[in-house]
Amino acid sequence: MSAIDDLPPLRTVIAEHGLSARKSLGQNFLLDLNLTAKIARSAGNLEGVDVIEVGPGPGGLTRGLLAEGARKVFAIEKDVRCIAALEEIAQVYPGRVEIVEGDALEINLARLSCGPTKVVSNLPYNVGTELLTRWLDPVVWPPYWTSLTLMFQKEVAQRIVAEPGTKSYGRLSILSQWRTTSRIAMELPPEAFTPPPKVRSSVVHLEALKEPKFEANNKRLFDLVARGFNQRRKMLRASLKSVAPDIEEKLLSAGIKPTDRAETVDLERFCALARILESS
Ligand code: SAM
Repeated sequence: MSAIDDLPPLRTVIAEHGLSARKSLGQNFLLDLNLTAKIARSAGNLEGVDVIEVGPGPGGLTRGLLAEGARKVFAIEKDVRCIAALEEIAQVYPGRVEIVEGDALEINLARLSCGPTKVVSNLPYNVGTELLTRWLDPVVWPPYWTSLTLMFQKEVAQRIVAEPGTKSYGRLSILSQWRTTSRIAMELPPEAFTPPPKVRSSVVHLEALKEPKFEANNKRLFDLVARGFNQRRKMLRASLKSVAPDIEEKLLSAGIKPTDRAETVDLERFCALARILESS
């Protein structure tokens, strides 16, 4: 029995179900249920909220989310070995856990929940950035989720919240900060995981804004940002040369010096440039 529920400790669950961690699946498990409950709390109030959890593994965070009052957890797990362990959790919380076996990249996550939805996950590192990109650039905005509370490598977390002019500032910063408010909620040392990864980790909390901070066409904005940061040492007049014949003029109209590099340009001016290009 654990501190947060009547289920066995996670070490017992892992031993009973033979869940030796697989590197190929990004498996670094959290075994401290007080810590998983704390991560669940960093997502805010979960009462009456549906939660999408990618990669529940043996279920440590799932149990934290349920103990913190989530209405229902949709648990998407690729590793078939974990399913029996997750079913034991579902039995203790009848009607509150839906286990979806499969690859989160191939499942339409937007179709799972019905009410207010938050995404809370200790993501597998190999698919974390791809999933974040999809959550941040859906077909319609506002999206089906109100917040994302996600574990990343510390470096990735820093890129999400980075300010212009810093080493971490880039595509992920613009993508995240355009339509959400984001902050680092928690930092975790490697020892918090079993097995410990080589890097430190951070939990990032992103709240969806009803509307983007500045008007811009998403495709245009992300194309500019991708070109600009693809060659981050190049001046924008060079990296954006093929975007428009009079790019220098357009950069100036957006308040950007043609000799500026992408890493010094803030979100507002990238959006201004996207609007100018869109209207020409
Ligand atoms: N949530 C658990 C915890 O905190 O202890 C496990 C986290 S572990 C970092 C990542 C989990 O994601 C593993 O259980 C792994 O099997 C699962 N996973 C890896 N790739 C996946 C994918 N494409 N779709 C769904 N789950 C995946």
